[in-house]
Amino acid sequence: MKNVPSDISGFTALDPWWRTGVPTCILCSGNGIDDILRKIKQEDVQAFFLVDSVLEKQPLFAPLFIEQSKMLFNASASEPRTDDVDQIVEFLRSRDSLPDVIVGVGGGSTMDLAKAVGICLANPGKARDYQGYGMDLKKGPPVWVLPTLNGTGAEITPIAVLRGPEKKLGINHPYAAPAVAVIDPRLSSGVKPFNRFFTMMDCYFHHYEIVKSKTSSADAVQDARDGLKLATEVLDSGVQEYNVENAIKSAMASILGGSSTIGGRVGAVHAISYGLSNSAPGLPHSIAVTISMLALQELYPDGYEDTVRFLEGSGLSMPKASEYGIGEGEIEKMTSVALGMEKLWQSCFGEGWEGKASRTFVYDIYKRIVNG
Ligand SMILES: [Zn+2]
Repeated sequence: MKNVPSDISGFTALDPWWRTGVPTCILCSGNGIDDILRKIKQEDVQAFFLVDSVLEKQPLFAPLFIEQSKMLFNASASEPRTDDVDQIVEFLRSRDSLPDVIVGVGGGSTMDLAKAVGICLANPGKARDYQGYGMDLKKGPPVWVLPTLNGTGAEITPIAVLRGPEKKLGINHPYAAPAVAVIDPRLSSGVKPFNRFFTMMDCYFHHYEIVKSKTSSADAVQDARDGLKLATEVLDSGVQEYNVENAIKSAMASILGGSSTIGGRVGAVHAISYGLSNSAPGLPHSIAVTISMLALQELYPDGYEDTVRFLEGSGLSMPKASEYGIGEGEIEKMTSVALGMEKLWQSCFGEGWEGKASRTFVYDIYKRIVNG
């Protein structure tokens, strides 16, 4: 990949660096907060802001907190739940008029919440009714996003991942894609190094698995190759301190993470992680995928090696499932959940995947995880 800018003015002048067509209008910005507020004024729309509450303490975000129409979401306490979506939708419907635009400001969870609220505002059911694929849904007000953490790809994906009463599952629908994403790499300067590291790890795994996938489109694989290179550079250089060069690379890798999902599919790391997440609601997705990769040395030797090197280089210990309360008793259940991810196993192994992703194979992976 060529032309990775080293400063913000180079970033704002960038031509599209992704190949897969995306439905979101992506604006590269050197002052994302001003740009999004200006856009609201210019288009003369009533905007409702959903903002990660952690940003309240960061002076950079002060202009957003003067906005009247907003709600704070504590993304560090929990992933968005279907109940959260229902409450916000109910609140918005109780007001005199519905907003023209929902603006999500924060990391993947806050952006997913904004996307879910947008869809649910236009549809009569509860959020839990729309978790899944291929539903017949009406289009809600446009959702604009301002990511403050890069690596999730949530700024352009048509997926809003929610934890429901029965399952953690996305609302997967073309109407869930943000209409506008304003990308300003400076906005991630206040992110804790731990979060910066594991979010970039998840970004790395997405790209790695799509590169290895047997069922992904050529464009998706090409985007994932570029994303993998960027994520690797960031993770190898260390994420303890914020620096603008890494922030630009992370923002670019994140967009590629979103674009490569359109024609691409992840594999075994993600399939195994869903079993873990299902058994431990408090386990963040980005840590679940890291735990999974650490148990997949045979299948993904280079990915495993990179992961160990990234962790050691950043002075972090290997995350363990037992730290999140996952023990022997969960193995059967986790195995069933992971085996249900047929498309991911197919992506991982291609032809004849059924013989390779056997119950024993998956069971043994969880055994290693639990005893590790
Ligand atoms: Zn992931």
